[in-house]
Amino acid sequence: MNRQEFLRNLALGALSLQNVEELATHWVPEKNTMTQQNESFSEVIIIGGSYAGLAAAMALAVLCAKVLILDAGEPCNRQTPHSHNFLTQDGQVPAHIGAVARAEVLQYPTVRLRKIWVSAVQAVEGGFQVTGAGAEVFQGKKLLLATGVKDQMPDLPGFAESWGISVLHCPYCHGYEVKSKN
Ligand SMILES: Cc1cc2nc3c(=O)[nH]c(=O)nc-3n(C[C@H](O)[C@H](O)[C@H](O)COP(=O)(O)OP(=O)(O)OC[C@H]3O[C@@H](n4cnc5c(N)ncnc54)[C@H](O)[C@@H]3O)c2cc1C
Repeated sequence: MNRQEFLRNLALGALSLQNVEELATHWVPEKNTMTQQNESFSEVIIIGGSYAGLAAAMALAVLCAKVLILDAGEPCNRQTPHSHNFLTQDGQVPAHIGAVARAEVLQYPTVRLRKIWVSAVQAVEGGFQVTGAGAEVFQGKKLLLATGVKDQMPDLPGFAESWGISVLHCPYCHGYEVKSKN
């Protein structure tokens, strides 16, 4: 059974728990024109290792895929002191949520994470070639972009420094905590 068949059967509920455990134990990655013995080869390269990238990595890790996460470590909420409206994590420091998520994901032996800025991506035969800072090159069969969004700050004195602290954009995140405050 190849991976596509496995996923289709899984989605259709056609696999028993025992099937899944057996397949996970004996999983052999599909053949690829790139050499899979190469340490820099991954089945999936994820660019961006914050919440979205880590969530994707965990799903792939459970499928025993060889995953490489490349992350510059600058999530959009890095300045905000507390996170809200996220069940089980209400009031938590965003960096703490990220650290716990990283620890959980990296418990899976097929996942690696590098702190690095990706500067270029190129489609090559059989997949993608990703270039990081310092001209380091990684190869992967699939590429998953989880780079988030970059907030554009107006050129106003103090605005960028106050972003997420006293300059707030999201009532779902911070409405209650700043209610009735000037
Ligand atoms: C000020 C503020 C407060 C917020 N408060 C809340 C809240 O209270 N509750 C809530 O639910 N949500 C909140 N949010 C929203 C929440 O932070 C985002 O929904 C969430 O961070 C999105 O996750 P992400 O993984 O998509 O992107 P991000 O968390 O932004 O992560 C993107 C990652 O990709 C990396 N990256 C980008 N480009 C590259 C590259 N070229 N090479 C390598 N790495 C790269 C970045 O360094 C970063 O680590 C807030 C957002 C902001 C801005």
